[in-house]
Amino acid sequence: MEIRQVGVVGAGQMGNGIAHVFALAGYDVLMTDISEDSLSKALAVIERNIERQVSRGKVMPADKRAALARIKTTLKLADLGQCDLIIEAATERETVKQAIFEDLLPHLKPTTILTSNTSSISITRLASRTDRPEKFMGFHFMNPVPVMQLVELIRGIATDQETWDTLHEVVRKLGKTAASAEDFPAFIVNRILMPMINEAVYTLYEGVGSVKSIDESLKLGANHPMGPLELADFIGLDTCLAIMNVLHEGLADTKYRPCPLLTKYVEAGWLGRKTQRGFYDYRGEVPVPTR
Ligand code: NAD
Repeated sequence: MEIRQVGVVGAGQMGNGIAHVFALAGYDVLMTDISEDSLSKALAVIERNIERQVSRGKVMPADKRAALARIKTTLKLADLGQCDLIIEAATERETVKQAIFEDLLPHLKPTTILTSNTSSISITRLASRTDRPEKFMGFHFMNPVPVMQLVELIRGIATDQETWDTLHEVVRKLGKTAASAEDFPAFIVNRILMPMINEAVYTLYEGVGSVKSIDESLKLGANHPMGPLELADFIGLDTCLAIMNVLHEGLADTKYRPCPLLTKYVEAGWLGRKTQRGFYDYRGEVPVPTR
């Protein structure tokens, strides 16, 4: 099936990155959010990020102009009805995602493929509540989308081969690489990455190390490009906690219990970079550890 028009639901850090890479690859993009402010911020971020690619010689100025012209925004979810492919990238909460698909269904073409960029929620369960579980897949981009090469393609129990093949071709056109994952909690990348981040928070919670010593240890001792707490701030601590809860409930194993200190940061609204404070405070010139 040919994909031309792509609908992106949620214009947060993932939604704007997804809109960016699809527009540069020549797709028409219609992006929606519940907040006008998020939509205008997303357009500004996309403009800035493509400009950075232009200044590094990775994108031609004419391609930047053409890509920006391909991105339209709307506050009405129903406007996405004519899209060939929907990518849901709203907040990591199942009730939010379920409501989006429910509201969208009456407006869709019968051929439209539905996908979710969820980091952890069951694709099979989200799909089962729609009228087209065979045309539903997990389409998991990594953060930051314009930079990261991998896209996880997650097959729900009912996903048909044509849908999988169509998305595999889309990933190829984006110039990225697909990895195939079965639909179990948190799929591949986060199944491995999140318990490591959660363990880093436990290491902090138990006083084994400070924020600085934990991050430095993993950077210099394990050759990770970012420390785990720095990475958690980058991902968003609410998203990290949501994924740990999905692993904990979905796999029913206490080894996945979220660290109480992670919960406390989220309760404080210290969600990482997006709120200017998490394991580091980003309000000054340089990030300062908060513990
Ligand atoms: P975010 O908080 O930056 O953005 C979420 C956006 O969704 C916000 O702009 C919010 O206004 C919008 N939204 C909420 N309810 C909505 C609704 N009903 N309709 C339309 N928009 C709505 O979050 P994010 O980091 O961009 O994460 C989005 C999704 O991508 C989540 O499912 C997350 O698990 C997944 N994801 C995140 C990362 C990451 O590193 N942050 C990586 C891969 C996947």
